[in-house]
Amino acid sequence: VSARIIDGKAIAAEIQSETAGEVQQFTTETGYAPCLATVIAGDDPASAVYIRLKHRGCKRAGIESRHTSLPADASQQQLLELVASLNNDPAVHGILVQLPLPPQIDETAVLDAIHPLKDVDCFHPENVGRLTQGRPRFLPCTPHGVMQILARSGIEAAGRHAVVAGRSEIVGKPMASMLLQRNSTVGASGANATVTVCHSRTENLAAITAQADILIAAIGRPLFFTADMVKPGATVIDVGVNRLDDGSLAGDVDFQAVRQVAGAITPVPGGVGPLTISMLLLNTLQAARLQASNAAAT
Ligand code: NAP
Repeated sequence: VSARIIDGKAIAAEIQSETAGEVQQFTTETGYAPCLATVIAGDDPASAVYIRLKHRGCKRAGIESRHTSLPADASQQQLLELVASLNNDPAVHGILVQLPLPPQIDETAVLDAIHPLKDVDCFHPENVGRLTQGRPRFLPCTPHGVMQILARSGIEAAGRHAVVAGRSEIVGKPMASMLLQRNSTVGASGANATVTVCHSRTENLAAITAQADILIAAIGRPLFFTADMVKPGATVIDVGVNRLDDGSLAGDVDFQAVRQVAGAITPVPGGVGPLTISMLLLNTLQAARLQASNAAAT
């Protein structure tokens, strides 16, 4: 037997075409398109690739986008001033500061400075708090992508044991939080799973992952999860994106071996990755809607 391979690209394309339709409707109703502003500081080549993909996604969905690049030696003050000017610009609805930032800059201070209604990455403590309480304003892009993969692949999480490997603020923690929610409080993103979170200090990791009905691998270690760590028939979602010495990409899961035991599995590339941008576009539309209704109320 061999696992069903989940086509993340197809799911991402489906969501993006739905979003494009909603964007068109928003634009017709309001007379303007949603607009995403992106910011890079420094010259990280991977960041440049991600930003290009995000702008391309915007264009396809009918979302406007603009970009500012600051030099690698930009000061914290410069970055905070840029964020403040984007916060105050009514034509900008979503703000995305690409990470990582250069070492002289306090990332948290910059992310906290983004207006909570423009926080399309869902990193602001107000938005993270709202998510945790089951009344989200935005859903964080990568974990939301995973929830969409599960929902659109017909994989039921309710009542089942989901093991999240990784506890970062970007992936692991919000992933666990979303899997834990009641359906009724977070709609399509709710899951009612029984959730275990593992990290680098977890003892007997393999014994825990082997109990997972749904395993979310997000630790950033290439090919780490082997077949013996996976329960037969489990769903394995590989969030990892790791560059190997030969330049190729590998996930956190040993795909060739694990596909022999899993029931369903996402590949890398072509699994979770494409969803992240789809969810960013949806959040940009959501931000524009929130600001439009805010403007109407004042
Ligand atoms: P991160 O900030 O480095 O966090 C990694 C997490 O994994 C940490 O919680 C760490 O534990 C844990 N960990 C590391 N080694 C471990 C081990 N041997 N056993 C158990 N846990 C271990 O990484 P991240 O930002 O969450 O990203 C994780 C992976 O997802 C990376 O490969 C990244 O490239 C990828 N990613 C993909 C997307 C996408 O769009 N597909 C988006 C974001 C990230 P401690 O907390 O104890 O250190």
